Amino acid sequence: MTGQEEWIPYARQSIDEEDIAAVAEALRGDYLTTGPAIDRFEAALARRVGARFGVAVSSGTAALHAAYFAAGIGPGDEVIVPANTFAATANAALYLGAKPVFADIEPDTGNVDVAAVASLITERTRAIVPVHFAGLPADIAAIRDMAERYGLPVIEDAAHALGAAVEGRPVGSLSAMTTLSFHPVKHIATGEGGMVVTDDEELYRKLVLFRSHGITRDRAFMEADEGAWYYEMHALGYNYRMTDIQAVLGESQLKKLDRFLDRRREIADRYDRELACLNEAIALPGRRRGRESAWHLYVIRVVAGEARRKAFVDYLRERGILVNVHYRPVYLHPYYRNLGYGPGLCPAAERFYSQAVSLPMYAGLTESQQARVIEAVIEGAKAT
Ligand SMILES: *Cc1c(COP(=O)(O)O)cnc(C)c1O
Repeated sequence: MTGQEEWIPYARQSIDEEDIAAVAEALRGDYLTTGPAIDRFEAALARRVGARFGVAVSSGTAALHAAYFAAGIGPGDEVIVPANTFAATANAALYLGAKPVFADIEPDTGNVDVAAVASLITERTRAIVPVHFAGLPADIAAIRDMAERYGLPVIEDAAHALGAAVEGRPVGSLSAMTTLSFHPVKHIATGEGGMVVTDDEELYRKLVLFRSHGITRDRAFMEADEGAWYYEMHALGYNYRMTDIQAVLGESQLKKLDRFLDRRREIADRYDRELACLNEAIALPGRRRGRESAWHLYVIRVVAGEARRKAFVDYLRERGILVNVHYRPVYLHPYYRNLGYGPGLCPAAERFYSQAVSLPMYAGLTESQQARVIEAVIEGAKAT
């Protein structure tokens, strides 16, 4: 990188003075954890995604763990997840003694291939977990039809897809449970944080129990009542609570979500327009009619594959454009190989990984920064 040009990351949060003021006010208040801001944030987010209940937790990973728990997943069960995802989607099954079963993906969107999912269903399958890769909804209608046929719950890992929609219906209103992440690279940031949304009151109760040690103080569900101090532990839960400090930040960020999404769509459209000239060398992200992406990532593919992709990534990084790669198929990580998974399991996901490059995509990316990225991508595609 030369001179005074700044680094451009692949993703980053957008925090303004209003967010900072909200957090400062929370710090002056009576609650630092599990106060009124949690209820407000849960209600506002659930409303935004068309769900009845939201349960705020300490991370998107905790949200997945809680959702799998609430679905009754346990030892010996199988959970079908895409190979092209962040490790947490699969890890949360292992936390409960269940086995992640990896499904291959569509080559252009990186989303799970519905036929691959169908071929993996056994009598041990307990849930199907699509991930809306990069923010584009997976084929949720086909997945839901299949899940209904087999009597299986669908749990959407929507860490990439806050604000996405299918035929006008928001992600979060489509399945038994949907999990979200508020990590700073995602659409809204709470530092660490996540949520499970659901319409089902019984699942909601299980999620709330799991978030706080499996402990309840709700008289309606206790076996006894020995006094004002009394509570009961009904399940082996965790401390997965979100703090009020995080919840006020989430609440403040949520007010800006529509603006953030508009900007992400604008950035995607400009990449589509100005990189179309590279169509032999660089494939642009697949879209699907009726499915509106939330554009968490903008993933292009270097068609020539692994060696060219590495040179291309190095070229951009040397110019201060900190592109990234999403994802190495989860089962190729050493931990999973030690469990017996190995190369060749999901060929399309392996090919996708060998070609993928995530370009800068976040609400705060300026027009001149994007111009710099586009210029470097076009030059890089020729030079490498
Ligand atoms: C970010 C992410 C998670 C985990 O969220 P954290 O808040 O970082 O724990 C899970 N699944 C996917 C697909 C993600 O991108």
